[in-house]
Amino acid sequence: MPRPEDSQWAVSVAQVASRAGQSKPIDQVFPAPSGIGDHVVGVREGADVHVVGSFDSIVDGLILTARITAPVHAECTRCLVPLKRDWPVDVTTFFPYESKEAHDSARSGRPGKGGKNGKEEEVDIIAGEDESEDTYPLLANGSFADLEALIRDTFVEAIPLQPLCRPDCAGLCPQCGVDLNDDPDHHHDVVDDRFAALAGFKAMLEAEQ
Ligand SMILES: [Zn+2]
Ligand SMILES: [Zn+2]
Repeated sequence: MPRPEDSQWAVSVAQVASRAGQSKPIDQVFPAPSGIGDHVVGVREGADVHVVGSFDSIVDGLILTARITAPVHAECTRCLVPLKRDWPVDVTTFFPYESKEAHDSARSGRPGKGGKNGKEEEVDIIAGEDESEDTYPLLANGSFADLEALIRDTFVEAIPLQPLCRPDCAGLCPQCGVDLNDDPDHHHDVVDDRFAALAGFKAMLEAEQ
């Protein structure tokens, strides 16, 4: 069985998890996990994902407040120009400590919790309006936070469904495919169709560079 700390997304948090009121900054690049979007819109597996923020310990767990930035690739749904942007997402995530039953009860000094339901209720109170799905477990008795699932979930949710190169993208000419953004006055009354098609092809090639 692989050790939790061998994960590419593992962050050691043992020193902040020892007691409440501690903070550990994080400024680290992780490889993008698989499963974020597809070849049209998404984040390529292994791409650099930058996490900047801090872990802060409270009584029941760690709060990660961070800006996570990943290169999102997409295609404008109107003009089909390839888009690639560093996409920042601000996250606030709770990593609760494992249930007290799993620990040495003499150390915790707290009454045991009532299992899963009690734990989720507690999380909701702490996280306020945040949904419980923004909660991830700590590993190896609270020594490590693994950010793989957090990064994947964050960008699966954040990638645009109908990406546009700009809000008022004019799209392509339905007759010849020329990019109307490049030529707002484009029309077919006097323009030679063959030339316009070539211009459209050229514009697409240039946009891909
Ligand atoms: Zn466009
Ligand atoms: Zn045209």
